[in-house]
Amino acid sequence: MGILEKGLEALYPSSIYCVSCGSIIDATRNYALCDACAEKLHWLGQKTCSRCGKILNEEDRHDLCWDCRQFAHDFDRSYTCVQYGLYERGILMDYKYRGKSYIGRKLGDILYDRISLEEEVFDLIVPVPMHRKKEAKRGYNQAKIMAAQLARRMKLPCAAGLLERVRETLPMKGLGAFERHMNLEGAFRISRQSHYELKEKRILLVDDIYTTGSTLDACSKVLRQAGAGRICGLTFACGANIPPKQ
Ligand SMILES: [Zn+2]
Ligand SMILES: [Zn+2]
Repeated sequence: MGILEKGLEALYPSSIYCVSCGSIIDATRNYALCDACAEKLHWLGQKTCSRCGKILNEEDRHDLCWDCRQFAHDFDRSYTCVQYGLYERGILMDYKYRGKSYIGRKLGDILYDRISLEEEVFDLIVPVPMHRKKEAKRGYNQAKIMAAQLARRMKLPCAAGLLERVRETLPMKGLGAFERHMNLEGAFRISRQSHYELKEKRILLVDDIYTTGSTLDACSKVLRQAGAGRICGLTFACGANIPPKQ
């Protein structure tokens, strides 16, 4: 645990309050969620998109979600934990915009349990980077804290400085898949300071939320060009499988 995290742990003991509603819980609760909130989250069901991991209806006759049937991806596979809804939004808003960076470790634990269900082997955990100006303003990169906890649990290196975001991009909210793709064109690169050998390396990219996959795609493209082997994504939440309104 770093000094910053130790300080935060003292200020906000992460296992005493539910990360979603703030009610008092005991330390035995999974992920620091009270029972009521754990039940309200939209945990993934049996049926998920065989490419991006988005949650599909049990009666869906497709193996792929609507997005994955329209667009190819640069990553090999992606996994997620919950579908983005009211409670998931609340947790992520607190985590990203209200300074509650300690939530990241709990999300990292959730990611660990999720990826442990899969027969995947990785060499390196890579968080999706933020632009340094944005990270400086927020004080932390939410993907990095989650990835660091996941890496600790998986006993793998967390290559936080491997990728960098070289271009400030428009907020993705409200953009369609193609616009998202264009918005991220050339936004990432391998950091010049990075000493990681990427040839044939199996990489797990970590982000907080998966919408159309354009962020994971843009990162995967750069890693692929640098010689990476299998590239997977892992996010806390994913958007719903809904075709966009025409
Ligand atoms: Zn709660
Ligand atoms: Zn999909």
